[in-house]
Amino acid sequence: MTINSFDAAHLWHPYTSALHPLPTYMVKRAEGVYIELEEGKRLIDGMSSWWAAIHGYNHPVLNEAASRQLKEMSHVMFGGLTHRPAIELGELLLSIVPDNMQHIFYCDSGSVSVEVAIKMALQYHYSQGNRTRDNLLTIRRGYHGDTWNAMSVCDPVTGMHSIFGGTLPKRYFIDTPACRYSDEWNEHCTDEIAEAMERLHTSLAAVILEPVVQGAGGMYFYHPQFLQTVRRLCDRYGVLLIFDEIATGFGRTGKLFAWEHAGVKPDIMCIGKAITGGYMTLAATLATHDVATALSEGEPGVFMHGPTFMGNPLACAVAVASTRLLLSVNWQKRVTEIEQQLKRELAPAAALPQVAEVRVLGAIGVIEMKQPVNMAVIQRQFVEQGVWVRPFGKLVYVMPPYIITPQQLSQLTAALLAVVEKQPL
Ligand code: PMP
Repeated sequence: MTINSFDAAHLWHPYTSALHPLPTYMVKRAEGVYIELEEGKRLIDGMSSWWAAIHGYNHPVLNEAASRQLKEMSHVMFGGLTHRPAIELGELLLSIVPDNMQHIFYCDSGSVSVEVAIKMALQYHYSQGNRTRDNLLTIRRGYHGDTWNAMSVCDPVTGMHSIFGGTLPKRYFIDTPACRYSDEWNEHCTDEIAEAMERLHTSLAAVILEPVVQGAGGMYFYHPQFLQTVRRLCDRYGVLLIFDEIATGFGRTGKLFAWEHAGVKPDIMCIGKAITGGYMTLAATLATHDVATALSEGEPGVFMHGPTFMGNPLACAVAVASTRLLLSVNWQKRVTEIEQQLKRELAPAAALPQVAEVRVLGAIGVIEMKQPVNMAVIQRQFVEQGVWVRPFGKLVYVMPPYIITPQQLSQLTAALLAVVEKQPL
């Protein structure tokens, strides 16, 4: 059995059949913006390994941080012990997130940080003696992860809630805000959420949203002003506001975090993905002092969660290096340049008969097709063009590492156009 056939026979890959999987490509190494395949081909990375590898691969600064930390310790438990990498990362994070975020809970992955955020919101009300506020409100086309509660707040259709029958907790959904990022603001965009919160608030613990950019649920950008009204409604009805910034964090949307587009601060915030520059898994759930106080003073007086790899020193050390690196370069200028180039170079796709819409925000470019793409076919076409792009459904999209040069980005966008044009009508 070759290693490739072992993979196909035994290794489960994301969102594909175990028995008849979509093809995979064997990677030998990755460096900078390039992913190098075993057979020798070099692909320009358009995905940043799902929003994470913002500095590109095999970065000397991140490598150095990892090897330095390895020599000290790769892990110790966080129960009863603490360490410099966790503290340094905490200090750094608090200097870049909304200033009302004061307490940090380190988690193993984005999905877990969403679980933690939801548990915090439920326990917040429970510990204050309010036992009816045990549900969540969210907007359609969201994506928050694949664990149970995270899944319950993903879009019910693309999140495939139907597979799990009645066992998935039932959440309240309203439509995605109709006002797009680039539209003129229309007050009526909040009519539905205002009505829903008036009707449901006594059973709501929190509203959970991806601020401004909805990622894997639809790659949709909505108007920041929507968040201002949501904040006011949450305050009026005593409902917590959770922002899932796992995909949007660390500069991707043109702001360091997407809440800055609206100037609206959440009560609880989830971050992950690019936190380690794509080196390893780490996420964090951040909370206000008010949330932490309620969880600490009411019953049972502690937050009931504590993963084995909480605050993993190796991941924290790399996260410190990655975040410092980001802050030390002019990332905002670079993301704005990528945005302008994506807008310019993807615009012609809008005229193609296969394409429904083209949209760009920050270092995110989306071509929404009229028909779902054939993954196996389109993936091969991208590889033939020398780029790594992984579409889903009708969405062909890129979010390249920020270190991509204008010339490499042009190669990526040219490949996108060439491949999209080949798709059947
Ligand atoms: N929330 C959002 C907005 C995400 O984009 C993702 C990952 N795609 C998650 C949560 C889940 O993160 P993870 O895959 O690390 O569990």
